[in-house]
Amino acid sequence: MSFIKFIGTAGARFVVTKQLRSSGGVWMSVGETNLYIDPGPGALVRCLNSKPKLEPPTLDGILLTHKHLDHSGDVNVMIEAMTEGGFKKRGILFAPEDALEEDPVVLNYVRNYVEKIVVLKENCEYRIGEIGFSTAQKHRHKVETYGINFKIKPRSVSLISDTRFFPELIQLYRGEILVIHVVRLKPVGDEPIDHLSIEDVKTIIREVKPKVTVLTHFGMTMIKAKPWIVAAELEKELGLRVIAASDGMKIDLD
Ligand SMILES: [Zn+2]
Repeated sequence: MSFIKFIGTAGARFVVTKQLRSSGGVWMSVGETNLYIDPGPGALVRCLNSKPKLEPPTLDGILLTHKHLDHSGDVNVMIEAMTEGGFKKRGILFAPEDALEEDPVVLNYVRNYVEKIVVLKENCEYRIGEIGFSTAQKHRHKVETYGINFKIKPRSVSLISDTRFFPELIQLYRGEILVIHVVRLKPVGDEPIDHLSIEDVKTIIREVKPKVTVLTHFGMTMIKAKPWIVAAELEKELGLRVIAASDGMKIDLD
């Protein structure tokens, strides 16, 4: 069975540090291939506590869209769990260069545990088992950040990770299922907050018309507005299917 499971749906500092939502990222299974995306704080614990339990030693790889803590806090322990304490050299780590080079988030000693480290770059294609994926251009975010287009059968999935809005975004992510990180309810004008708001989501999905849009990675203003209500309003306004992710929510890809 192929699926994506939202281990966590928290985004930005307050929702993460108060754990108003879990911050574990996403588990993706396609056929026999398991990939963990953005293991933020709590990923390991939430993974082991999820029902049915998700077993990190069955992971084939871990992907970081960027190095911010809410996306990478548990990357080291997840590598250790994937490789059974480092005793089984296995798995691939995909990460932007700045997550590995300057002020890295991946410890040197766990780097030896994985079979391979693949550096993500702009507009490149990658494969891990049954999951093919590609990056687009770099996002507008404080650190090197990529969104991902997953080419998986039978459904294509796009993930728009953290970014400030830029017009090209509309063209870059065309998956049937669009997972989008929406931290803010309202835009913040000229404030230097590199995150999308619901206004930006509207601009994107009005054009792209994904079969399903999944909102996730919520900041405080989204949590206060109740994401499921925001999603229902969007759905009504645009006539498109929009879901707000909740912790533990699973989307069947078959
Ligand atoms: Zn970020």
